[in-house]
Amino acid sequence: MVTRFAPSPTGPLHLGHAYCAVEGHEAARGASGRFLIRIDDIDGSRSRPQYVDAALDVLRWMGLDWDDAPIFQSAHLAHYQAALDELRAKDLLYPCFCTRADITASLSAPHGPSGIIYPGTCRDLSRSEQQRRCASEAHCWRLDMAKAMLWVAAHFSQGLIWEEAGDGNMAGKGPQRAEPQTHGDIVLARKDAPASYHLASSVDDAVMGVTHVIRGADLRQSTDVHRLLQALLGWPTPIYHHHLLICGPDGRRLAKRNQAAALETWRQAGHDGRRLADQLRQHKLPTGYSFQKA
Ligand code: GLU
Repeated sequence: MVTRFAPSPTGPLHLGHAYCAVEGHEAARGASGRFLIRIDDIDGSRSRPQYVDAALDVLRWMGLDWDDAPIFQSAHLAHYQAALDELRAKDLLYPCFCTRADITASLSAPHGPSGIIYPGTCRDLSRSEQQRRCASEAHCWRLDMAKAMLWVAAHFSQGLIWEEAGDGNMAGKGPQRAEPQTHGDIVLARKDAPASYHLASSVDDAVMGVTHVIRGADLRQSTDVHRLLQALLGWPTPIYHHHLLICGPDGRRLAKRNQAAALETWRQAGHDGRRLADQLRQHKLPTGYSFQKA
């Protein structure tokens, strides 16, 4: 078994991250497997080195050890490029020149799980126009979802299936059918970053040999897209466990802006990190915190 904890160094870790790390660590250690750390620092404009150090300090404080040196997404750009080249060779990508304002202004742009569903403005540009504009205009690369689904239909007669291990009390365990088309033409390489979250996360889970992806239930819909990318790129599909999210004393889901739940603050205040990890292992939360209803 290989699991991973993959924080984005864009803010301090909170109790929800601690729970995620403990779940991943516990699963790996319980099976004599490997627990890896990946730093999701692909977003250069928001990632900060001090959050990397703080995250590793917090894991040590909780008594969680990991195998190998942490892997940085910023060192994996060649892997993302290779995946993009492969999808381009299958004619499943197109460059998109639209700005966020262009897309929001479009009257036919409903929301999907990955944000606004792209209305397809740049989907059918001619090759020569694509080349001409690529030379001078900022652009991202989008997956042509309709073409990708045709490819899947031709190669996967059973559809795209993945396995949800889930929490004991979480609905939707067992085999799941991925419905990536609800995301529309997602971005795979951003204007400002060489890979999007969806691409980087799926590529890295494959490259790192992750067998069990353990992460919060907020990323469950992303798994449909990740399953699709695995199919298109010929990779194995890990088992997924989307764990329950944690709410703070105000009843709202924890977010990085909730300074009160920042683990770094608890560590510096002298709290016992190992005790916290033991508590989380038993799915118990500190007073005032609760699991969000599934
Ligand atoms: N880096 C992501 C986050 O902090 C998690 C990615 C993943 O687990 O796939 O939300």
